Amino acid sequence: MAEGHAVHGMAGRVRRLVGQPGRSSGPVSDVFDPGLLDGLAVADAEAHGKHLLVHLDGTSRSGHFHLGMHGRVSVRHHRRALGADGLPRSHPPVPDGLAWRLLTGSFLLEVTRPTICELLDPEGVARLHARLGPDPLREDADPETAVARLHRSRRPIGLLLLDQSVVSGIGNVYRAELLWRARIDPHSPGNAVPVEALRALWQDAIDLMGIGLGAGWIVTHPDQFRSARDLLVRGEVVPRWPKRYAVYLRRGRPCPRCGLTVVVERMGLQTAYWCPGCQVLHA
Ligand SMILES: [Zn+2]
Repeated sequence: MAEGHAVHGMAGRVRRLVGQPGRSSGPVSDVFDPGLLDGLAVADAEAHGKHLLVHLDGTSRSGHFHLGMHGRVSVRHHRRALGADGLPRSHPPVPDGLAWRLLTGSFLLEVTRPTICELLDPEGVARLHARLGPDPLREDADPETAVARLHRSRRPIGLLLLDQSVVSGIGNVYRAELLWRARIDPHSPGNAVPVEALRALWQDAIDLMGIGLGAGWIVTHPDQFRSARDLLVRGEVVPRWPKRYAVYLRRGRPCPRCGLTVVVERMGLQTAYWCPGCQVLHA
């Protein structure tokens, strides 16, 4: 599943269409009618956690998409003959699972296989924001709200980090690597983890996911993190190095910090990876 950094990356690509009227098409459902968006231009796009919102000029409705396990958003340049209205005269072939397409004079935006595809009015958008926890990659995220939500619960921190109503955008990879970097055992109840440790965890989520957004893939290993940050500071592209994790997907292998064997277990709906040697249980 795409974690938050990937959805923020999608929002950034959708913003390339801002101001360009497009032909809107796709299957009609009870909650989505692409015809209502035909001829309109993207005004803005934003991510909140793993949810993508596309706002359009000339309507109060916004497209709301969640990609689940198999959904995809693609934005591509295209060259097609334009009609007198400035819009393409023909359409590219329809891909399997297409939910929404916006074809402008120079870009093709396609959403395929989402688990949520609906139009929201401003109240619906406000309700969505209200039910999602602070997102480390959003400028309006309040760190103290995030810390307070984590600290007021007796549930394990490993579950709280994945609960999108507590904090949003963190998925299984970031959960595993953030807790390892913070040396926190995922079973520690949220209210037993010191507030200072939660503040540091939140800041690390901002740093790590910010690098993930800039690189376009999840970079967490300390060596790769430093190299990626240096490249991004210089405005350069981060290559797709072989992915290296400290604990994620490293069942039975030695922890790079203490050498003890990484363990794996079911935690909530997902598999948790952690090191019993150097991740401390706060109780
Ligand atoms: Zn360890």
